[in-house]
Amino acid sequence: MPSGQDFTPTKRGSTGKKNANCSFCRKSYREVGPLVEGPDDVYICGECIELCQSILDQEHRRRGDPRRLFTEVPTPRQIVEHLEQYVIGQEHAKKTLAVAVHNHYKRLLHHEQSDDDVELEKSNIMLIGPTGCGKTLMARTLARFLQVPFAIGDATTLTEAGYVGEDVENLLLKLLHAADFDIEAAQRGILFIDEIDKIGKTSSNVSITRDVSGEGVQQALLKMLEGTVANVPPQGGRKHPEQQYIQIDTTNILFICGGTFVGLEDIIAKRQGTRMIGFGQQIEQDVAEQQRRELLGDVTVDDILEFGLIPELVGRLPVLSSLLPLGEEDLVRIMTEPKNSLVRQFQKFFELENAELTFAPESLREIARSAMTKDTGARGLRSVIEAAMFEILFELPEQEDGRKYELTAEMVRGEEHMFPQQDDSAAA
Ligand code: ADP
Repeated sequence: MPSGQDFTPTKRGSTGKKNANCSFCRKSYREVGPLVEGPDDVYICGECIELCQSILDQEHRRRGDPRRLFTEVPTPRQIVEHLEQYVIGQEHAKKTLAVAVHNHYKRLLHHEQSDDDVELEKSNIMLIGPTGCGKTLMARTLARFLQVPFAIGDATTLTEAGYVGEDVENLLLKLLHAADFDIEAAQRGILFIDEIDKIGKTSSNVSITRDVSGEGVQQALLKMLEGTVANVPPQGGRKHPEQQYIQIDTTNILFICGGTFVGLEDIIAKRQGTRMIGFGQQIEQDVAEQQRRELLGDVTVDDILEFGLIPELVGRLPVLSSLLPLGEEDLVRIMTEPKNSLVRQFQKFFELENAELTFAPESLREIARSAMTKDTGARGLRSVIEAAMFEILFELPEQEDGRKYELTAEMVRGEEHMFPQQDDSAAA
């Protein structure tokens, strides 16, 4: 403490004045628990101490590390090359995303380095594609590559302020958490908002007053996507008039919105005047699938509007890309090729138990076929493998070391159980 002042913070609460209030947020001891007392009847509560700490930390970081976040932005080609290591297929989406992300961070860098008045506008991104085809994976992989904070939110949990549910600002709080409360870093992060298609205003919305999660939520999202200074409640949850807020500027946050947009093909087909191949028709599944792919590749802003998103929102997501449903071949590649592929992960599990696991080629196809019936894309793969190895995963830790196992198509179909392979050398 500066000389001349004799002050030691003391705890206030359990004894002493029960009616003391925090001098910062004005909440009472009863609301916020113990207060720390300073001189002249000044008090501070735990919440405010935490908030102050995060402000100081941020300031320290800023002063201690004058480097910019990037000095160089990777080129679209470098971005695609990095994505290739983790994401199978989806070539078009990878390229679109790489260009958009490159431009976004180039714009940020430009903005930091110069003050000319050509204001480059940001381009948020919309990814359309079925569940489990890699939308989140791509966004996450990008964020990791660029070393920016990344968070995932779900549009369906959002409601217009005043209703039970989450406020839009809570999405920013997730990003702030991901950035360890470094506001500057959070302000350049990537926020992935899933299920954006579920907040379309649909004709089935029967509320005659306000829609609980429809157009109102879209309006709230609008501001955030465009760039605003949002008041984020540090504790999350509902906003409270007396709460202290953290202010986050969303201008430089890159928003990637994902949605499955079920039924979008029909809208595209109608616009093009194409006749969709119906389920009732005796046509190869492949042909129907091919048609879906071609249609989705042709998606335009108008189709999204027709689907029910409001024009202002769609206008703020100018980069549009569709991801394709994954086929059997893709799923097999997903299990084997990425750096942290499922096959490698399971082999690692076995290795940790001093055992060895191999996958018969036909078993991979069988797993892919089985996962495809679940309609959850690549997300279904893990559960199929786990189901096939259920018994052995239970037994494995107690088995003798050095045993070899092979997963076969029969085991995936549930016709056989997995046993250790006969060791030829021992038998001989
Ligand atoms: P969604 O499209 O619903 O956002 P995700 O990206 O979350 O799907 O995919 C779920 C999981 O499936 C991922 O974590 C990843 O393991 C796997 N996956 C999905 N698509 C791909 C892909 N194209 N390449 C590699 N793995 C994928």
